[in-house]
Amino acid sequence: MPDYQRIKKELEGISIEDNPALVRQKSRDFYWYSPILKAQLDNVTADLVVTPKTEEEVIRTLQVAYAHDVPVTPRGAGTGNYGQAMPLSGGIVLNLAAMNTIKEIHPGRVICEPGIVIAELDRQTKAHSGQELRFHPSTAQTATIGGFIAGGSGGVGSITWGGLRDLGNILRLRVVTMEAEPRVLDLTGWDLTKVSHAYGTNGIITEIEMPLAPAYDWVDVLVGYDDFMDAVRFSDALAKCNGILVKEIAPIAAPIPHEYFTRHKPYIREGQSIVALMIAPHSMDPFVAFTRQQKGEITFRSDKVESMKGIPHAYELAWNHTTLRAIKVDPSITYLQVQYPGPDHVAKVQKMVETFGDEVPGHLEFIRFDGQIQCAGLPLVRYTSEARLEEIIRIHQDHGCPIFNPHRYTLEEGGMKQTDAVQLAFKRETDPKGLLNPGKMIAWDDPDFDFKSGKNYLFPGLAALM
Ligand code: FAD
Repeated sequence: MPDYQRIKKELEGISIEDNPALVRQKSRDFYWYSPILKAQLDNVTADLVVTPKTEEEVIRTLQVAYAHDVPVTPRGAGTGNYGQAMPLSGGIVLNLAAMNTIKEIHPGRVICEPGIVIAELDRQTKAHSGQELRFHPSTAQTATIGGFIAGGSGGVGSITWGGLRDLGNILRLRVVTMEAEPRVLDLTGWDLTKVSHAYGTNGIITEIEMPLAPAYDWVDVLVGYDDFMDAVRFSDALAKCNGILVKEIAPIAAPIPHEYFTRHKPYIREGQSIVALMIAPHSMDPFVAFTRQQKGEITFRSDKVESMKGIPHAYELAWNHTTLRAIKVDPSITYLQVQYPGPDHVAKVQKMVETFGDEVPGHLEFIRFDGQIQCAGLPLVRYTSEARLEEIIRIHQDHGCPIFNPHRYTLEEGGMKQTDAVQLAFKRETDPKGLLNPGKMIAWDDPDFDFKSGKNYLFPGLAALM
């Protein structure tokens, strides 16, 4: 057992929390979305929470932790869904939330610290020069930019820009290594993929350079259809409209909108499926004309209501907020993450809708993927048992719809990040004792792990890229 009294002394001057209740609170994320992870991770807790204010304090913390063989699990805001930020082996939770300043803003890019909340980052870049991040998770109001890069994948804006996996959507990361004498590395180009969506297993991100896009006062819109597949076809057609500028297109099947979107209920009929949208103000006229042609019913426009007070942003109905709103009403609900590879993505969705009906109510996100429009899904699942969940996953996969399993806490089993020899060599270099977020990378713990399996990964292995 490490000598935490001594460790605290050696970290004197850096903010430390050791109250067990508060430490436990900061050892959690949104793992409880999954009944399986909830059972597995409920008792996980760290021993200390350390909150550095500077890169120098990060370096000191890692130095001390390395000397005492203490695991360190970085944390942004703890909004990850798969236990990414949960310290499986105890030790230190490194809370980056106090490193939250913007250092520089330029045309097309921003340089900032990792702990800034994404909505605050957008607020400052918009006020400075009318710019905003290309895309953000639906947790923008609470999540940090560092946590998004290390634990997320894409979100609001991915219809235009793709995701974090795409070269150019992160420009530079500064990373501190976990060694006797921690080094500071500046990563660019393909090297960025060593750290993006790696759950902080191979370095602590202390500085970030992100590309920016023009900011707009996006108009929130809901379009209603009586049939979910009509909503899906409308979404697909809109996503392929060259001239209409959209930031979010999420078709969501009945009964989700009327039953679970309590604040929007006055705008949604029972049995109605909706598409949650964000449209640039100057695109509203062509958008209305297009929607009329597609026989969609505009049931809500944020630019036409008297006040938005108490009404959440449209993007807070989408991505994993759809699941959150459903779980709040019915805690037995969980979800999946599905890819519907194109060009026949609409047909694949239809097949799954027909197969599962209301056991798996549909929720899609239209995105740009490898240059093509397709959709990803975060369908709800009316959970009955682990065996049935596995069966639902298998049926999707048998129909050519890969699952990124949100009921697993390791990088590999989640299926988003492929580890390989390059990734492993980088971890050996940056974290030789395996102290960073231990237990999250199977390839590190199991030398026989076969990372060459033919499985589909969102963030492919590095050997194939470089
Ligand atoms: P945390 O959860 O604190 O951390 C995420 C991971 O990053 C952890 O492994 C942590 O160890 C690591 N980490 C944190 N900071 C650092 C650092 N400085 N250096 C190295 N590693 C670090 N995700 C999406 O991609 N898109 C979405 O639209 C989306 N919507 C969501 C909606 C809801 C309601 C919820 C609950 C989750 C959603 N997520 C989504 C998942 C999650 O919110 C995002 O990935 C989010 O950006 C994580 O940020 P965070 O600050 O909370 O990170």
